[in-house]
Amino acid sequence: MAETIGFSTKLIKETVTVDEQTGAANVPVYLSSTFHQKDFDNYGKYDYSRSGNPTRDALEEAIAALEGGVRGFAFASGMAAISTAFLLLSKGDHAVVPKNVYGGTFRILTQVLGRFGIEHTFVDTTNLQEVEQAIQPNTKVIYVETPSNPTLYVTDLRAIVKLAKAHRCLTFVDNTFMTPVFQRPLEFGADLVLHSATKFISGHSDVVAGLAVAGSEELAEKLYFLQNALGAILGVQDSWLLLRGLKTLDVRIRKSADSAQKVAEFFEKQPEVRQVFYPGLKNHPGARLHAGQAASGGAVLSFELKDEASARTFVNHVKLPVFAVSLGAVESILSYPPRMSHAELNEEERVKAGIGSGLLRLSVGLEDAEDLIQDFSDALAYVRDQERFAVGSGE
Ligand SMILES: *Cc1c(COP(=O)(O)O)cnc(C)c1O
Repeated sequence: MAETIGFSTKLIKETVTVDEQTGAANVPVYLSSTFHQKDFDNYGKYDYSRSGNPTRDALEEAIAALEGGVRGFAFASGMAAISTAFLLLSKGDHAVVPKNVYGGTFRILTQVLGRFGIEHTFVDTTNLQEVEQAIQPNTKVIYVETPSNPTLYVTDLRAIVKLAKAHRCLTFVDNTFMTPVFQRPLEFGADLVLHSATKFISGHSDVVAGLAVAGSEELAEKLYFLQNALGAILGVQDSWLLLRGLKTLDVRIRKSADSAQKVAEFFEKQPEVRQVFYPGLKNHPGARLHAGQAASGGAVLSFELKDEASARTFVNHVKLPVFAVSLGAVESILSYPPRMSHAELNEEERVKAGIGSGLLRLSVGLEDAEDLIQDFSDALAYVRDQERFAVGSGE
């Protein structure tokens, strides 16, 4: 049966564990840092909660099964997971990393790992030739985020894995934007999947957490050693909350993605919107590639207004989304990448990364798509008036 069940069934099967002693339909919150050993000579499965905790285990087993990996790991944040993963590398090793990688990953590579002799080269991972040219004899990892943040560029997972294997490198994939509901990189041969579980997997803007899933026993053992050694584990109560969020991931992200498609199509028709970045749109440059490796365009899109003044007017007049960093929640989240996620880039770097001063990112939540579209339509009317006024006043 296990081979033929649908993903939704699998999700519930993997996240609902009936407690053997009591029949409780949820894994208990094992708030215990230590565990009594019954036998002087033979210790039990658990001894100390940094090394292992039954509540965290339930979450780690669930994410491993959903990503199709051999073992999962829960960390205190997405960055804790990503940093621990990079410490699989040693002094003198090199990683090939996307230019537009998540800001925190950029920071750990450029300001921390370099001090320990772990080198990197930033490339456009949508350009396979550029990726191949950046590979050196000491390259150990090709790191990928697809679709990327905030412009949703698509990287060819199969081609990157092939390239990595040909050069005896590992492939790490940050799968935060798609989640295993829509994209499972291990199935294409990637070695390690990483998540900021703060986003869709938690889903309620109430937990900061990270997850990693290893595709092989060998890598799993090394990562377990590092998780225990570094100790950046997810706490027990947050592990339980994440498991609870995970149970509804499938219905949440599918509804949000359906709405995101409608919102993207709406924005595409608005004269005030210069460009829409969403891999579910036919004219998105990565649309076909994305459709070949992911089941949906996802719930995040970006759109570009004329300039910062237009973006400000839009943000000041929308009523439904919260204006905040982060994404992947029940409420729609609107953010302004030039001042939020990508504030560390100077203007030239930003423009090079495709992040114009009028760019807004939208993570679509669970509101009715029609209400969101009405709200955006109303806000765009203010943008239109303001742009007209600016022209009239001879800006
Ligand atoms: C948020 C995010 C991270 C970092 O995760 P935290 O949970 O904030 O530490 C990493 N990658 C992507 C794509 C993200 O969106």
